[in-house]
Amino acid sequence: MSLEKYKKKRKFDRTPEPKGEVGKKSLPSFAPRASEGKHRFVVQKHQARNLHYDFRLEMDGVLKSWAVPKGVPEKPGVKHLAVAVEDHPVSYANFAGVIPEGNYGAGTVEIWDQGKYELTEKTEKALKFKLTGKRLRGEYVLFNFKGKNWFMFKIKNV
Ligand code: MN
Repeated sequence: MSLEKYKKKRKFDRTPEPKGEVGKKSLPSFAPRASEGKHRFVVQKHQARNLHYDFRLEMDGVLKSWAVPKGVPEKPGVKHLAVAVEDHPVSYANFAGVIPEGNYGAGTVEIWDQGKYELTEKTEKALKFKLTGKRLRGEYVLFNFKGKNWFMFKIKNV
């Protein structure tokens, strides 16, 4: 895991975003006990040139990230496009603020939801997990259908 792309896109003397580093702990994809399989997720509402929601899962010492233009589905059976973006540092999960004009992603970032997730299945093309947040709860799947394009689908409420 690397934050090279994340760092390349930003000038840290001009944005309040965290510089961050890759976490030392390589987090397990699966855990024998449910409590061990729980890591953080966050959804940040990002009012940039185009409003979107950034969905991030703590995994392997970074936040795996997707931009979801229509937001994370809240009802079962709903599928929204999620575009994979560069890995973010884990400390980004706490970031909210204003990214000044002229910077990558200029606009406002607010934390829309956060909580824990439990990964239940992982293949190269799909991630299945349960979210336990304040707004989002339930079983979801993210599946990669083409390049950076994924679908995020809510399977059921839990
Ligand atoms: Mn964004």
